[in-house]
Amino acid sequence: MQTKKTEFFTTPLTRFAPTIADITGVTAPAMSPAERVEEIKDLVLEKTGRPFVERTVIYNPDALGAWFIDKYADMFRPVTSRCPLRVDYLTMFPPKTPVCFGTMFTGATPDQHGIHAYVKPHLKMDSLFDRWADAGKKTAMVSVAGQSIPLLFQGRDIDYFLYKTDGAVIDKTVELIKSGEYDVIEAYVMEYDTVMHMTHPQSIFAKNAARRHVRGFERIYEAMKESYPPQSSFLAFAPDHGVHREKYLLGNHGKNIPEDMNLSHFYTVI
Ligand SMILES: [Zn+2]
Repeated sequence: MQTKKTEFFTTPLTRFAPTIADITGVTAPAMSPAERVEEIKDLVLEKTGRPFVERTVIYNPDALGAWFIDKYADMFRPVTSRCPLRVDYLTMFPPKTPVCFGTMFTGATPDQHGIHAYVKPHLKMDSLFDRWADAGKKTAMVSVAGQSIPLLFQGRDIDYFLYKTDGAVIDKTVELIKSGEYDVIEAYVMEYDTVMHMTHPQSIFAKNAARRHVRGFERIYEAMKESYPPQSSFLAFAPDHGVHREKYLLGNHGKNIPEDMNLSHFYTVI
């Protein structure tokens, strides 16, 4: 079914955190809503025969919105062909990175987590990272240093691996997967966002950056397939918000428009 460009998606991004809590076998973060993304739970049950998985990798490439993925469907085929489930979310307003990731890992709305702009405070409220740590799950955050996720969710009882470049993030993520030491790994990369702000969302440079995010996903997928027992782990391709091109020609995001607010995630059990 073709989605009209002007339509807003409806499933709120707040449902991601409690659903991921369920399928990783931990209690939901305190501010999560009661509603779940039932299709994710169904996928896990169908593929593993159980309501939860043994290992989880959440891959967070910044700013790859639904329209971009649909427009460049061939570019994203390595993701979409490996993921039987696509979930369309309405991200949080304003669609800025810390606002959206603040919600993605807590289940809280911006009014509840208090981030309404491009600011990156130490967010002390209950999050998936706290739930995983409390449940004794060995958890790694692998990220570009100084960015929203490591700043918001600093000081948790998890292992932090922070680097200057996306390439180092992917290399380390693959290494940690192959080590078999971690129950949960979160990996954040950001080149597309950086480049589309400097150029525009469909520039050659931005598209090359997006291709590298797809390649990163492929490497993570292959490492999981090689290292984890079959049908036991969950992989999420989980961006935070979309983007648009301003009249002054550069790429941007932060408006209440479908281009910025409509978000698609892709999920698979490996
Ligand atoms: Zn972002």
